[in-house]
Amino acid sequence: MIDFLPWQQGPARRWLATRERFAHAWLIHGRPGCGQMEFALAGAASLLCESPRDGLACGACQACRWVAAGNHPDLRRIRPDAQAVREGAMDVAEDAKKQPSREIRIEQIRSLLPWFNTATHRGGWRVALLYPAESLNTIAANALLKILEEPPEHTVFLLSAQAPDRLLPTLVSRCRRLPLTVPPAPESLAWLDAQGVKDAADRLAAAGGAPLLALEQAREGRPVMPDWLELFLDQAGGGGDGAALADALQAAEPADWVDGFQRLWLDLSLGTHGLPPRYHPGQATRIAAIAKRLDPAALARAADWLREQRRLARHALNPKLLADHAARTLLQSVRPR
Ligand SMILES: [Zn+2]
Repeated sequence: MIDFLPWQQGPARRWLATRERFAHAWLIHGRPGCGQMEFALAGAASLLCESPRDGLACGACQACRWVAAGNHPDLRRIRPDAQAVREGAMDVAEDAKKQPSREIRIEQIRSLLPWFNTATHRGGWRVALLYPAESLNTIAANALLKILEEPPEHTVFLLSAQAPDRLLPTLVSRCRRLPLTVPPAPESLAWLDAQGVKDAADRLAAAGGAPLLALEQAREGRPVMPDWLELFLDQAGGGGDGAALADALQAAEPADWVDGFQRLWLDLSLGTHGLPPRYHPGQATRIAAIAKRLDPAALARAADWLREQRRLARHALNPKLLADHAARTLLQSVRPR
């Protein structure tokens, strides 16, 4: 059955308790990997359930069975084709030359219009689930905005997003916001353990406390410590001209390693204050050793450089040049003089 994640049940009950005077559009948002899409889907199931238990979907009624099977007539999922393929809900046509779309297109919004005019099952809700809302292109976002300006009856729109600031502001202003926070670590750890994730504590920390991100990284078989991070910590004390690190960086996504170094930088900066690392608890000893002899000014300069790269990383013109430069700059900034 489709259920809320364990840490979402409390917030979900409070949210659904207001269903009698429910807003017609909700923006469910939070950091990546905190389960906003799962929350929206379980919310849809609960709104459609015919005999909710304590406000949440029962999992047993006809409506719940339809939602679980993906064929409830009063539920529509609007997401990019690429997302539908990832969910296994859509096949990639074998002769398709182009990649499945990463955008929510206007046709998908338009295809909702006739649906608004059909009667709902037993006069209940109709729920449109849109995710991730960031993938609405401008034309589609404007079409949705038009619909929300004169919302159809008995219809609830649930939009899930990671970065509301990347959405059309007028669209955001038409939605009630429902922020989801990073769950408390013990709940996330219990859940990750139940999913069979090894090194759950280190993974959760590396994912910034976002349990679904930690699970995804574990399932993808990503090492808790990427090889470039391992190399960096090894070579931070001296030795090596950075060539090996540059090679490792070049093999990774710039956006990933820039992000990774920013986290390490935060840990190093905590270390200079004698505080334990937040993202790499398993590396506390090595990080403390580096932090002890750090020049705070050099650390700050490198942090600025990383911030700048974060802006540019997605459009790196010359990944090799960037990797070489990063390896030299970052190693120099932490090495003893
Ligand atoms: Zn039910």
